[in-house]
Amino acid sequence: MNLDKFPSEVQSNLVPKVRGSLIYRCLNCENEFPIDELLYVCPDCGQVLLIHDADFQKLKEIPGKTWQLIFDYRKMLKIPALKGIYLYHEFIGPVLPLEDIIYLGEGHTPMIEANPVLQELTNIRFYYKNDGQNPSASFKDRGMASAFSYINYLLKKGSIDNILAICASTGDTSAAAALYASYMKPNVKSAVLLPHKKVTPQQLSQPLGSGADVFEIPGVFDDCMKIVEALSEQYNVALLNSKNAWRILGQESYSYEIAQDLDYKLQNTVVVIPIGNAGNITAVLNGFLKFFEAGIINTLPKIIGVQSHHANPVYRYYLEPDETKRKFVPITVKPSVAQAAMIGNPVSMPRVISLVKNYNLKSGFQNVFFVEVTEQDIMDWELTANQNGHIACTHGGETLAGLVAAKQQGIVKADEIAVIDSTAHALKFSGFQDMYFEDRFPPEFGVTPKPKLMNSPILIHPDDLDEVPAPGKPLTGESFDRFVSRVSQEIAKKLNLIKK
Ligand SMILES: *Cc1c(COP(=O)(O)O)cnc(C)c1O
Ligand SMILES: [Zn+2]
Repeated sequence: MNLDKFPSEVQSNLVPKVRGSLIYRCLNCENEFPIDELLYVCPDCGQVLLIHDADFQKLKEIPGKTWQLIFDYRKMLKIPALKGIYLYHEFIGPVLPLEDIIYLGEGHTPMIEANPVLQELTNIRFYYKNDGQNPSASFKDRGMASAFSYINYLLKKGSIDNILAICASTGDTSAAAALYASYMKPNVKSAVLLPHKKVTPQQLSQPLGSGADVFEIPGVFDDCMKIVEALSEQYNVALLNSKNAWRILGQESYSYEIAQDLDYKLQNTVVVIPIGNAGNITAVLNGFLKFFEAGIINTLPKIIGVQSHHANPVYRYYLEPDETKRKFVPITVKPSVAQAAMIGNPVSMPRVISLVKNYNLKSGFQNVFFVEVTEQDIMDWELTANQNGHIACTHGGETLAGLVAAKQQGIVKADEIAVIDSTAHALKFSGFQDMYFEDRFPPEFGVTPKPKLMNSPILIHPDDLDEVPAPGKPLTGESFDRFVSRVSQEIAKKLNLIKK
């Protein structure tokens, strides 16, 4: 494309150049460390890190309105590296040259407005942002595109070789890590640790299909996490959990896309996010803060974090209104259909505490809220959403249940519009839908199916048909005509069809 055809004020910035000066910053002792090596925690105090651009102030030399134009026009370019999360290169990984960027089709997931039936049922105007439409069918691809592009950059520089990417996972992190690692063969291999029987069959099939080494560990995610942490402390491996601050950077793209898709006008906007290890909400908060700081948006949207009552340590922490009295207590999780968020001791909790405080401060009022929902509500709302044209996973059910709860509690006002996150594709968690439809939830979930939401296939095999077709054994002639006629009669009866 001919850059001369674009408005002059965007031309020089349309194709991003390497810029910026990224550093790891400790949230606790505020010490800073260079990014030439992979760090996961502060070498001085052991706290989690975030990546900060020491040159961020320079981004402000370009007016917010111009940034808006740059991002809007950049969408027209045909450069693969800019088609995903790196459309926002200056805010995500400005030190990476475009040729080092790994792009597998992540990001720019659609926002689908709820239909009139669903809006009337909930009494709220809202959109699902379907992060299940990422390559490995969850939002985790955003963070992996960032983390693996950085690894690629280090590999090309020659500062590392032969990487073993390792992660603990509630299912989706491992699917995403294994996918990106397999693309980077032969320099990168991957190994994933999953809690035995605590991921869905679809999620288990993903890293296996990508050729990763898959280990199943007794216990829950929190136990797997401890093992990967031990491995990454003692051996030369690259940790791909959201403890890795590069993951957070990539996931900030979710906020940038919402801003862009709403034309950078975020007045009366509410964004609803499910919380597990709290990496996603960290990224969403940080993303909006960065766009706000750079003047690209003038309003910080209201953020609502949702947790199931079976895995709610973040919600519990914020139950205490007095900030000075809050104390984080990890919890033991109970079974949850929002299984990817079944985490009792979120790694990103210190990031959340620091960012929520800053977000409320910059907003000038309380602008981050936390709600809790039941397993029953998660399932009921997921099925209701999907019976109205969505492809929400159980976590998407959780965000809708959370939005409804927040409206009832007065947190969401009548004139507000919500964007709610369906973090994965419905198909990854269809086993929970089957359990609902077949009324076989183990009692510890506390889910009782509502008859009007249940569904099951109906086998049509009229008693008076003695011959039916079978694979390799088709019917012909009169017996086939009889089969077609009897089966269609039977279906017409079930559907109460009226003859023409
Ligand atoms: C990982 C995951 C979550 C939880 O996100 P965190 O960043 O761990 O809070 C929610 N939903 C799905 C589908 C996930 O894969
Ligand atoms: Zn520190």
